[in-house]
Amino acid sequence: MDRSQETAGREPQEPLEYQTVDLGVLVVGAGAAGARAAIEMVEQGVDPEEVLVIGKRSHGDAHTTWARGGINGALGTQDPEDDWTIHAADTLKEGHFLNDPEKVERVTKEMPGLLRELDAWGMDFSRTEDGDIDQRYFGAQSFRRTAFAGDHTGESLLDTLVEKAQSLSIPYRENVFVSRLFSAGDRILGAAGYDMDTGEFVLFEADVVVLAAGGYTSLYERHSSRDDENTGDGPALAYLAGADLFDMEFVQFHPTGMVGDRYGDQWDGRLVTEAVRGEGGRLYNSEGERFMEEYSPDQMELDARDVVARAIASEIDADRGTENGGVYLDIAHRDRDFIKERLPRMYERFAELGVDMATEPVEVAPTAHYGMGGVAVDKAGETDVDGLYAIGETMAGVHGANRLGGNSLAETIAFGKHTGVAVAERLGAGAVPAVDDGTRQTRARQHFADLAALTNSDGTHDPRDLLDDVRSLLWETTGIRRSGDDIDRGLAELRELRQAADDLAVGDRTSESFEYALDVGFALVVAETILRGARKRTESRGAHYRTDHTELDQSWQRNIYAARDSVGAMRLRTEPVGTPSEAVQDALDADHELDYHQLE
Ligand SMILES: Cc1cc2nc3c(=O)[nH]c(=O)nc-3n(C[C@H](O)[C@H](O)[C@H](O)COP(=O)(O)OP(=O)(O)OC[C@H]3O[C@@H](n4cnc5c(N)ncnc54)[C@H](O)[C@@H]3O)c2cc1C
Repeated sequence: MDRSQETAGREPQEPLEYQTVDLGVLVVGAGAAGARAAIEMVEQGVDPEEVLVIGKRSHGDAHTTWARGGINGALGTQDPEDDWTIHAADTLKEGHFLNDPEKVERVTKEMPGLLRELDAWGMDFSRTEDGDIDQRYFGAQSFRRTAFAGDHTGESLLDTLVEKAQSLSIPYRENVFVSRLFSAGDRILGAAGYDMDTGEFVLFEADVVVLAAGGYTSLYERHSSRDDENTGDGPALAYLAGADLFDMEFVQFHPTGMVGDRYGDQWDGRLVTEAVRGEGGRLYNSEGERFMEEYSPDQMELDARDVVARAIASEIDADRGTENGGVYLDIAHRDRDFIKERLPRMYERFAELGVDMATEPVEVAPTAHYGMGGVAVDKAGETDVDGLYAIGETMAGVHGANRLGGNSLAETIAFGKHTGVAVAERLGAGAVPAVDDGTRQTRARQHFADLAALTNSDGTHDPRDLLDDVRSLLWETTGIRRSGDDIDRGLAELRELRQAADDLAVGDRTSESFEYALDVGFALVVAETILRGARKRTESRGAHYRTDHTELDQSWQRNIYAARDSVGAMRLRTEPVGTPSEAVQDALDADHELDYHQLE
């Protein structure tokens, strides 16, 4: 069966010109996951000339640089009683046991060693007085296990990886947009896209494709991402090539996004890192009440993100929010020097906006932050499409129904490494089946004909407006709280948006509108998976809260998968979750938990 066949199957009227790049491995995405995978392949012996890393932005400018608070690994620097099994247990508990235990164990077991490796590669971790890697508290974690570089951990991480990749002479091509992956007979054939600077079409003939193209949370109206990142490219590209997606209904709303009415629209939803609460920040409503005492008297502000986000939303709904539609986050009880040292970027950002965090609170409200769902992969990161791997925020399985802060950077590094090893072994073993070049070329020509038809099209709808419509739709119908009726309305509206998307007004291929037009296609796929998953899951669990099914239902300890059938329709199915190892079960039975009040 070939599930990647274009529905139109259009053949070009005139010969189309395109560049062909012949490769062993194409890595789509140059964030932490893609960079770490490429490094591992080359360290394992793959010739760098066989590898190409591409991104739709310039080199070093992946969304990873926005990660702030830290990266998890049970080093036990501050709390020697911590170990990887407790990290795994915390991850499973936070994920409400929808995570794949094997993947969780893979990440948590290896992270201490991988953090030491990053340290050896020169990452500028914040240090303890003894010079060891420092670790801070993050929400819902039993011990201090979040390593950090001030509050610019992602930037520091990516700088380290880019430098390492350059030292290994790994080729990188910037500003290339991948618009389609090709597969035939459930075997990856390569990828197609265009050069965003010149508009030239490019066909990548690759035996292996590693998809590390980020997540999908900027498809929500209030989001912590850049508008043009996390638009769902990764999951949609994999799905259209025949891979399955799962857990798409689980979208994490971070409790503390900046409030646009207070700081300006350009700041709306931008993240105020969890590290502010990890370093002692307290939440107050407009009546001066520290309301987490009511919602979570033991874990307070450091309870799980979904709990804190819903608490804030409830306070705002009950008219106890600020006049700008948020609540207060206050760390002014800490010394100025402490704030400047531990939260330098936050301090600077608010200072530029005229707010002194050392003397006054900031205003925050929940914002879409992380999609726990994504592409289904095995323990090496490979999808059901032979030769197609998916890692980092594009993949699913590690976080379950909710993600621990600091675990996504950990996942990028751990799976980046594993996939790198697996790809190197695969190429080393020479086990790459022959690919029919005729099929590749035919597919490419059909796809480029579709892209050519879209270029300078003078339809009715601006793609940016349609993307915004998807964002409003998802925010309103599958937001922090959702109901069956809301979701049905969302599905009906989605059908209308799909029709509108057939009638776009688009510029040339170097224009922003052309990129957005392709993003609309990805967004419509991803929105359908979120809505249909949310409709099917008739319970509340972690980040998925149904106002018409408010309780967790044990019979729903299953993942919801979305797959594309042979005629292009989306089919859902459910599968049960695996069981943890004995060691992790012991850690779960020990029931470790952060006692927030010991911090005060
Ligand atoms: C504000 C913010 C703060 C965060 N803080 C933390 C934190 O403190 N700790 C933590 O663990 N996690 C944090 N996260 C989450 C974490 O940053 C991400 O999950 C992680 O960085 C994702 O890395 P990645 O390599 O998977 O993808 P990304 O870094 O998003 O990289 C995606 C790459 O794919 C490329 N790409 C995408 N689409 C295409 C396409 N169509 N064609 C070609 N290239 C494409 C992009 O150009 C980019 O190079 C935060 C997230 C945000 C938004």
